[in-house]
Amino acid sequence: MEKTVHIAVVPGAWYSHLVSILQFSKLLVQLHPDFHVTCFIPTLGSPSNASKSFLQTLPSNINCTFLPPVNPKDLPQGIPILSQIHLAFSLSLPYLHQALNSLTLKTPPVALIVDSLSVEALDLAKEFNMLSYVYFPPSATTLSTYFYLLKLDKETSCEYRDLPEPIQVPGCVPFHGRDLVDQAQDRSSETYKFLLQRVKRFCSVDGILINSFLEIEKGPIEALREEGSGNPAVYPVGPIIIQTETKSGDDVNGLECLAWLDKQRPCSILYVSFGSGGTLSQEQIVELALGLELSNHKFLWVVRAPNSSANDAYLSAQDDVDPSRFLPSGFLERTKERGMVIPSWAPQIQILNHRSVGGFLSHCGWNSILESVMYGVPLITWPLFGEQRMNAVLLSEGLKVGLRPRVHENGIVERVEVSKVIKCLMEGEESRNLRKRINQLKEAANSALKEDGSSTKTISQLELKLRNLG
Ligand code: UDP
Repeated sequence: MEKTVHIAVVPGAWYSHLVSILQFSKLLVQLHPDFHVTCFIPTLGSPSNASKSFLQTLPSNINCTFLPPVNPKDLPQGIPILSQIHLAFSLSLPYLHQALNSLTLKTPPVALIVDSLSVEALDLAKEFNMLSYVYFPPSATTLSTYFYLLKLDKETSCEYRDLPEPIQVPGCVPFHGRDLVDQAQDRSSETYKFLLQRVKRFCSVDGILINSFLEIEKGPIEALREEGSGNPAVYPVGPIIIQTETKSGDDVNGLECLAWLDKQRPCSILYVSFGSGGTLSQEQIVELALGLELSNHKFLWVVRAPNSSANDAYLSAQDDVDPSRFLPSGFLERTKERGMVIPSWAPQIQILNHRSVGGFLSHCGWNSILESVMYGVPLITWPLFGEQRMNAVLLSEGLKVGLRPRVHENGIVERVEVSKVIKCLMEGEESRNLRKRINQLKEAANSALKEDGSSTKTISQLELKLRNLG
């Protein structure tokens, strides 16, 4: 009988970072049933319902333990959300140490795989004599940019957004400094210094697993893996698509919107969503609503209450949203025949996989992008924060499967622009070209995870390395 290969996994405390690494773990044990994963989950506040229902889908060879939760009220108030997550994680480290210690006494893991937001755990890999890997949920473009920042930081004296020329990261589509990740927008900030420290830690691991595949990001992946680049081994294992399913007994809103989609014409619906916690300002919600109305296209919109900070809702679920409180007066009544508004959360995978959905207005989170690609749905790119602006550039200027609306000087995408870009996405010549290109990518995405696909081969290389130590 083959010996079991044990792996320890530490996700990030953020819906998409928690479930993406676990979905990868599911794939790993499905391909190699003699692998066993033990997962230690850091928690900040209580996990969302979506996270909890995902955890119920895990097979018996993945064990999950929640580390004692950190109460958000115990953290300094008013600091950026990423700093909250990192601070909370450092408070969880002693518990993780304890948990790994008892695990090592029973069934020593050969490797520790940590989410890119939990890199402080990497020291424990050395202490417990394990190989160390980072699971990086965003794009290869983002990872390449992170490494390139170490060089750019030494060569540049001004803020990156003031650079006159676009930044050319090896293998990537050039982008303007103002489209760089949020943490690099103020070089004197603590969050920027922290980003550089985090990237330096990436340099010393045994490998980085990225949720991408060769055919979607050939340039950055090849550049990352180039001999002499000095980077650790990079394993493109994607697209890792978070598999969830809404069944009867689950949330009523989700079932209602799927039933509504069943009644619509093929490719007629624009799906609008800003990820697991993205929010818009009150002014922007009004312009988006009026733009949707002006476009005359049908839509399914996941709405959250307005917030002046685009990522405040990530750690505080909005369970009691009443859209009539912040949507323009009369909007719900006027659009009831052609629009559906659903508060807070929708079954996104099933929506994107529905034949009635013909476009996705997205905040450009990397999981949402991969899901849209997997189901062949072209996008309107509406980045909010983090690395999403770089993703928007990749989609609109690189892969040409998305349209980026023009933002007015006041920082708002106005209703006429919203309507114009929706029409371009949903009708006419440009729409046909976008659809053709995303369908080519859809095929490549599906092939990458077939038996002889590029990502399956990469996972096998990783598997062999781990097995030889097991
Ligand atoms: N998601 C969902 N329903 C929603 C909003 C989001 O199922 O109403 C899922 C979506 O399918 C994706 C994840 O949440 O898997 C969002 O990840 P992404 O990387 O796109 O954005 P983030 O939430 O990290 O900003």
